[in-house]
Amino acid sequence: MAFAVDLHIHSCLSPCGDEAMTPANIAGMAYLKGLDAIALTDHNAWQNLPAIKKACDAYGVVLLPGMEVTTREEVHMLCYFRSVEEAEVFGRLVQDKLPPIENMPMLFGEQQIRNEDDEIIGIYGKLLLQAADIGTDELPRLCMKMGGVCVPAHVNRKANSLIATLGFLSLTEPYAAVEVYKKLPMEADTGEYMILNSSDAHYLGDIQEREFFLRFPEKSTESLFDYLKAHIRNA
Ligand SMILES: [Zn+2]
Ligand SMILES: [Zn+2]
Repeated sequence: MAFAVDLHIHSCLSPCGDEAMTPANIAGMAYLKGLDAIALTDHNAWQNLPAIKKACDAYGVVLLPGMEVTTREEVHMLCYFRSVEEAEVFGRLVQDKLPPIENMPMLFGEQQIRNEDDEIIGIYGKLLLQAADIGTDELPRLCMKMGGVCVPAHVNRKANSLIATLGFLSLTEPYAAVEVYKKLPMEADTGEYMILNSSDAHYLGDIQEREFFLRFPEKSTESLFDYLKAHIRNA
């Protein structure tokens, strides 16, 4: 079946994410927009995944646990997992590789951890808008080794993208797909990689409508994840 998805959304844990991007608000907005599945992909962080998983379950929206990792070269790469638990193990490793620089909320915004009722249950300390000490060429295999799949984010954007940073899109890496930002022209050859269009929403209103569809067998996290995994090239 074809399911409407938006696989790149930030919560209030990302310092640049709006405070209204709480787990229950995101799940509720996804439901209102008629999305079948979403991914929460905070910058270098997993801590709002348990709450959004519960909120999505309550609304009947499939959650694909994810994270947007900033590599050593400042390239944004989306990593998706089959379960919140696997995403957490990977997220802890990523956070261990962030420099020990604290967030300055006045400058960058707060990094709020919330529960499924949207109550603040913690504030993440280290600044999440930093590069983890993991190479862009190293990340896809590391992510796969830990059960995930890797998708370069917004490859046609001017900032923090694979093409802008490295100058080209390699067609020989084990990516499950490449994310193309649909509001900008895309000139690079994407070879055999599947293309994903997602919102990269930092505000509730920016979450995608029913406009991008993927065909996977069942409306479940496992089915969506396995579909992405089956699309890994050059593994
Ligand atoms: Zn990004
Ligand atoms: Zn993003």
